[in-house]
Amino acid sequence: MSVKIITIGEEVFGANEAKAAENKALLDEHRIFTVNVLSSPGAGKTSTISTAIDSLKGRFRIGVIEGDVASAVDAEKIAALGMPVVQINTQGGCHLDAGMVRTALDSLPLDEVDILFIENVGNLICPNSFNLGEDTRILIASTPEGDDKPYKYPAMFTDTDVVLLNKIDLLPYLNFDAGAFRQVVTGLNPDVTIFPYSCTTGEGTEAWLGWLAKAAAAKKDG
Ligand code: MG
Ligand code: ZN
Repeated sequence: MSVKIITIGEEVFGANEAKAAENKALLDEHRIFTVNVLSSPGAGKTSTISTAIDSLKGRFRIGVIEGDVASAVDAEKIAALGMPVVQINTQGGCHLDAGMVRTALDSLPLDEVDILFIENVGNLICPNSFNLGEDTRILIASTPEGDDKPYKYPAMFTDTDVVLLNKIDLLPYLNFDAGAFRQVVTGLNPDVTIFPYSCTTGEGTEAWLGWLAKAAAAKKDG
């Protein structure tokens, strides 16, 4: 499958919420469960999306929007799995906004998608400030980044529904205190659901994908 690449600049800040509401209405009309995937660079967004596709493709039709500053390397990985994917290149922009996503939606076969992953630009500063019209936000934190990330970037941990703690297979080699991490994250965000997980070994995958499948099925059949 070939990759369509869209290159666009950032939306004016104030216009974002209205565009996000339009996206949400369009996605609701098509009963597409939409996941905004956030993390720092290298925490495992593309790998998490790829493993979710592998596990869920028999039950759900999956589409992907890839956001990157430049290149289409992640989109090519997803396209190789046979899924419809649109690459957004932000030309240096540090987050996706609702207008960019709207343009990408016009290039996706919305009648043939049950779950849409939107892989945001890798950065823990600002993507949480831009609603895209998603149903849920997933923040991927990875153990090599250290357990102090919630202290340094609290807004990212506050404005999310799920935290995936990725790369738990590396815990024996790191000074990462998983208990302390959980305590700080739930202190910031009492409603958050945390799934410790490894996309390398597959440990924890069942719990998080079970959550995702249940939420997607509820929207599809609801
Ligand atoms: Mg990626
Ligand atoms: Zn930004």
